[in-house]
Amino acid sequence: MISKKANQRIVRAARGPECTARSWQTEAPLRMLMNNLDPEVAENPEELIVYGGRGRAARNWEAFDRIVGTLREMSDEETLLIQSGKPVGVLKTHADAPRVMIANSNLVGKWATTEVFDELERQGLIMFGQMTAGSWTFIGSQGIVGGTFETFVEAGRQHFGGDLSGKWLLTGGLGGMGGAQPLAGVMAGCSVLAVEMRASRIARRIESGYLERQAETLGDALEMIRQAKARGEAVSVGIVGNAAEVYEQILEGDMLPDLVTDQTAAHDPLHGYIPAGWTLAEWEKQRENDPTGTIKAAKATMARQVRAMLAFRDRGIPVFDYGNNIRQMALESGIENAFDFPGFIQQYIRPQFCRGRTQFRWVALSGEVEDIRVTSAELKNVVKDQAFTRWIDMAESRIKFQGLPSRSYWMGLQDRVAAGLALNRMVAEGKVAAPIVVTRDHISSGSVASPNRESEGMLDGSDAIADWPMLNALSACASGATWMSLHHGGGVGIGYSQHAGFACVADGSEAAARRIARVLGNDSSVAIFRHADAGYEQAAKTARDECIWRPYESATFPRA
Ligand code: NAD
Repeated sequence: MISKKANQRIVRAARGPECTARSWQTEAPLRMLMNNLDPEVAENPEELIVYGGRGRAARNWEAFDRIVGTLREMSDEETLLIQSGKPVGVLKTHADAPRVMIANSNLVGKWATTEVFDELERQGLIMFGQMTAGSWTFIGSQGIVGGTFETFVEAGRQHFGGDLSGKWLLTGGLGGMGGAQPLAGVMAGCSVLAVEMRASRIARRIESGYLERQAETLGDALEMIRQAKARGEAVSVGIVGNAAEVYEQILEGDMLPDLVTDQTAAHDPLHGYIPAGWTLAEWEKQRENDPTGTIKAAKATMARQVRAMLAFRDRGIPVFDYGNNIRQMALESGIENAFDFPGFIQQYIRPQFCRGRTQFRWVALSGEVEDIRVTSAELKNVVKDQAFTRWIDMAESRIKFQGLPSRSYWMGLQDRVAAGLALNRMVAEGKVAAPIVVTRDHISSGSVASPNRESEGMLDGSDAIADWPMLNALSACASGATWMSLHHGGGVGIGYSQHAGFACVADGSEAAARRIARVLGNDSSVAIFRHADAGYEQAAKTARDECIWRPYESATFPRA
């Protein structure tokens, strides 16, 4: 149950070098929790919703206040336990243990249905944590823009010989994650048309620099894309509309897209997807009055949208599911061949997983943009991946910060460890104004079991085995993450996924260097082992070449 009282407050993380908690070990999760709810970052902070339909940072405002109070008082030999967004106790642990351990939205197999979850949520017993919302590591659309860029570039490589110029992508949804698509598309070289039901979301993306233009009609939108192509440019355009209806209209016209996907929050048919023919006001009302009817109507519209996506595919256009489980929803509404188009992980990302590449994001707790500028410049000398420099240069000129300044990039095992250690060294040397948080998205190769997404179509058929995210979470805990989380249902909805996340604070200490090297290296290792075990040759090679290593032994960092 969400408390309606005191829900107008504005939450923003503290800035600067002074701790409001007893140490950076607890200050870091505190600032990151608050940053998740910063109005620049969260989609609906009044209701503690960060992104992804109803992905929340805390169960309710009372729980939020108690988490904040506890983090301010705790010592570095204690660990706060969070059960679905609610603090439930503090344990006596030790300096290398996580300061916070979070479990969100987990249900026992047979009970893991949306219906059971919704009922438990109504009773105030559970919360949907999405991926980075309930684990306090969301950094706005920029957290996903790198991965979205990688997906589009790989699609360009596979279907258009590596050149997306003159091409255009059709998609739906400009929410917390989906809002990254227009910018990522233009950075990758193609135009993007995004269909979004809420005008306010379009305005928000234009304001934050993720979307360039809004068109009043579909005809105007297509004309803008046509003109950009004639100028040899890429443009991103948003239109207000229902994705299912607009996709059907485009199919009837003579200007077809070159790539098709969708990022409405289809995984949550009650809170994330608006049925065709409904106004926003009707949807809000019906969700309260008739949840069952609303879910049915949403799924029926999803079936229409997937039917349109299949029709694009039949015309030879590459179509992919962008991780929102829309194919499953359509299947449940009678579209038997809904899975005829692939998911993005299986089609474009898994080869990177097998090379051990996974996300690395870093956040300046000082709030200083300069800290990201100097750390980015330093990491260009540390990260061996040649494409890193190009990405950072593009990011600096195109990606606006939301909340605490941060950056992200996908890196292999060695680069992640080297980057983490370099950041810690910079904190120790006083080159940044305050400690840095090192973390990642939950979307990674070893930390998610999601048979319609991250683990779809595994070589050995192990798609639904959820041991891997459990091992991943345990490894983060054993390695000394500052906080860690184990979630259910993120990305694709209740019953469809299990996943884990972590964050480490680089406070410049020798102990932090050891923890960071262990956590990042072991996180990548679990991912590589998971794919090697499933029979991927490349992963086995990466495991032989890169796993079991002790980089912290040779790491140099100044001693006080
Ligand atoms: P969100 O709830 O913040 O935004 C969803 C948007 O879709 C909203 O702005 C909503 O108005 C719009 N929408 C809903 N129904 C619509 C319709 N019929 N037509 C047009 N617009 C409609 O969600 P989000 O954080 O942007 O996530 C979107 C989806 O992507 C989720 O299912 C999420 O789980 C998934 N996801 C994908 C990735 C990835 O890397 N691909 C990562 C995380 C999450």
